[in-house]
Amino acid sequence: MEKEFPWQTSVQYIKGVGPKRAFLLGKLNIFTFEDLLYFVPFRYEDRSEIKKIAQVEAGKTETVVGEVMAVSLTETPRRRMKIVDLAISDASGVLHAKWFNQQYLKGYFKKGDRIMLSGQIKAKTYGGYRLEMESPIYERLDQNEDSLHMDRIVPVYHETKGWTSKQMRTLMRQVLERYVADIPEMLPFHLILKYQFSPLSEAIAQVHFPDKETKLHLLNDGRSRAHRRLIFDELYLLQTGLALRKKGIREKIPGIAFDVDERFQKPLRKLLPFLLTDAQERVLRDINLDMAGAHAMNRLIQGDVGSGKTIVALLSILIAIKNGYQTALMAPTEILAVQHFLSLKGYLESLRKTVVLLTSDMKKKQKEDTIEQIATGHCDLIIGTHSLIQKAVKFKKLGLVVVDEQHKFGVLQRASLVQKGLRPDLLIMTATPIPRTLALTLYGDLNISVIDASPPGRSPILTSLYYGKQRDRAYRQIEKEIQRGRQAFVVCPLVEESEKLDLKAAMEMFGFFKQEIFPDHKIGLLHGKMKREEKESVMAEFKAGEIDLLVATTVVEVGIDIPNATIMAIEHAERFGLSQLHQLRGRVGRGKEQSYCLMIAEYPISKEGKRRLNAMVATTDGFKISEEDLAIRGPGEFFGTRQSGVPTLHIANLIRDADILEAAREDAFLWVQEHKDLKDTESLPIRAFLERKWQGKLEWLSIA
Ligand code: ADP
Ligand code: MG
Repeated sequence: MEKEFPWQTSVQYIKGVGPKRAFLLGKLNIFTFEDLLYFVPFRYEDRSEIKKIAQVEAGKTETVVGEVMAVSLTETPRRRMKIVDLAISDASGVLHAKWFNQQYLKGYFKKGDRIMLSGQIKAKTYGGYRLEMESPIYERLDQNEDSLHMDRIVPVYHETKGWTSKQMRTLMRQVLERYVADIPEMLPFHLILKYQFSPLSEAIAQVHFPDKETKLHLLNDGRSRAHRRLIFDELYLLQTGLALRKKGIREKIPGIAFDVDERFQKPLRKLLPFLLTDAQERVLRDINLDMAGAHAMNRLIQGDVGSGKTIVALLSILIAIKNGYQTALMAPTEILAVQHFLSLKGYLESLRKTVVLLTSDMKKKQKEDTIEQIATGHCDLIIGTHSLIQKAVKFKKLGLVVVDEQHKFGVLQRASLVQKGLRPDLLIMTATPIPRTLALTLYGDLNISVIDASPPGRSPILTSLYYGKQRDRAYRQIEKEIQRGRQAFVVCPLVEESEKLDLKAAMEMFGFFKQEIFPDHKIGLLHGKMKREEKESVMAEFKAGEIDLLVATTVVEVGIDIPNATIMAIEHAERFGLSQLHQLRGRVGRGKEQSYCLMIAEYPISKEGKRRLNAMVATTDGFKISEEDLAIRGPGEFFGTRQSGVPTLHIANLIRDADILEAAREDAFLWVQEHKDLKDTESLPIRAFLERKWQGKLEWLSIA
């Protein structure tokens, strides 16, 4: 039998590494041989054309090689700038290079060293004409290494203290020379044919040391043939893992086969003051089918803010209740839990079902009673925050778990609630419209339904941007809306890392509006630190129209539903994240009236801040907003990686590689479908890669 390729061998044992270097590589997250081979350059330089110094031209970016003649360090008298001046020469002439405030460079260059410089050539006009480079890229060349570092497209690697890109290049070359021919193939042959991929060994070799003919921009854009192959591999493996999971969940986990009878939902439909939209009906059908099926439901409902997810959930909850099961509804904030409680209670009580609310700040006695009620089965729907997942909470017969605004929860929290039931069905709702590429990765093992239209009669929220000085105009607009019988929100910014300051700002703003701006109107205040009863009564008053203007912190970000509120001002809008702004804006525009969002920004505003504000003005489409958000923040930051379980991708980039992701997903799901559990011999290579790469990490993607 072939000897196995040493993918998992510690780099320490690779020839040319050893413990000291292994330690340095570890800082770059390179631990195994595999990590090393997949440590792809983050950019490339074209050094295939080395110019003679005499031939360089002003204005052009040139690469030259020469010997160090002199290095000096001077200080400009007035601006106190430290300048390192380097002179190198080749047989044709002398070239100067300059670096500013990088004194340490003086010691780096030694007379007689062979140096490569690459940068833009400038013509210096003061103190005598000469050509020079300003802050060029530099590299010291050893006498016999030229072919590796010059005369070619050169890979540039991330560095760490004590380990340079150049050292990495040398090591990589040695390692590849010795091992590359033995790298086994992983992809099924038909895919290599289908996409005309290079063999894996060639792709790995080329990604590090591309042929001269390779286009530099393709390399730097991650679009070279080698890159595409490796990106595909990474996404294909991920999707294979997800496909397996999904099958595993469907096949291995028997769930409750609910009796889904239309008559169960009828009484509630009669109570509703509206008809469901087509989009809501379609999603409800998906859920009904899942619930009727013998396997546990794992469904994600995506729907933009205000699309009407709650009622769809309630109709599903009713099915569970009519089948004799309890439902847990978990909301990310107490205020949202309270709101759900207040609004669902009405419906359920008229249907003679019981609802309880469980939150963390309940009084001890009250809490114990509620927990007792849950355990004995004396309530049908239990609404709460993450307090629902405490150990003490035991359900009599939990059949359905609904998680609202899922993006606010971690995967683990979701999982622990599910474990409290006997394979309950799981319905997850999110208003963050996740771009498709991210959804495929993040929720690849879930089924997704989208409520893609809002209830009729809503017009887009008019969004405008004001700068601090124009504040009065914003206030006048609020006044106008209140005069017409509408209600308003003013959102105070989050003061980073300090809930206390946060509160103080909210209190001050409350006082300011009450006394100075709108002394004739009823002003309310809502923030996270209030007692539950206070929150409840403020929410109830606002809902009943007894409060005209609600000054609130970002606690109103998710879920709050007050259709008569038509205008929202967001103070210091530049401080908020894009999806947060979108969520906040979603608190208005929930009825038939034209609604407004006024963002008040204060200078200084960062470039990204500007981009966020502009995006808000430009569109109310949640999908566009989230694409833009993903583009601004990058996938890792999108939800906060730790929370979301987004696996770390090394080569692929979810935005750039959306097309490859979709292709890889289709192929992966098909393969898993046709090669049961990847247990056939044909799947052995994939399986080996999968086990190595995603072992332990796939857990994060699991739901149950
Ligand atoms: P979200 O999807 O943001 O959670 P909600 O479920 O809170 O949205 O619904 C937003 C508002 O729209 C609520 O006031 C709700 O009563 C109302 N609504 C939901 N469905 C419809 C519908 N089909 N027609 C009219 N109004 C609806
Ligand atoms: Mg909601």
